[in-house]
Amino acid sequence: MTLEMWEKMKSNIQLEHTEYIPKELCSGILYVSQRFQVAAHLCACGCKSKVVTPLGDCEWEFTEKNGKPTLSPSIGNWQIPCRSHYWITNGEIIWSYSWTEEQVEKGRLKEKEIRESYFNSKIQKKSVFKRIFEWVTNRIKQFRT
Ligand SMILES: [Zn+2]
Repeated sequence: MTLEMWEKMKSNIQLEHTEYIPKELCSGILYVSQRFQVAAHLCACGCKSKVVTPLGDCEWEFTEKNGKPTLSPSIGNWQIPCRSHYWITNGEIIWSYSWTEEQVEKGRLKEKEIRESYFNSKIQKKSVFKRIFEWVTNRIKQFRT
């Protein structure tokens, strides 16, 4: 997974309280049945797999704050082909994945690029400022002499 893909996959999940988990789930909604102590949603990666998470002391803990759901621990969909792994925290999908060496290297290069271009733009700004400063000081010198 690239950084860009990861950015795109950042998304929200809405909470819907329901007595029964509907047969057809909509993506981006976490269905919670307090009565049956179960929650369900479609896998956040978009693969349309139904992910059912039983709630309870030894299962997932569901909390709600300002209508935004949190499930803990994380959702690890090892049993479906996408094998996605994420947290549902405060109504947000927070992805977890381990970077491969190559991705780490790419990330590092990108960071270096950003840092260098920032540094270069600073130097340019500095030189413009310096030029103006020199011009002004020269004028003052001229004025004095
Ligand atoms: Zn998936």
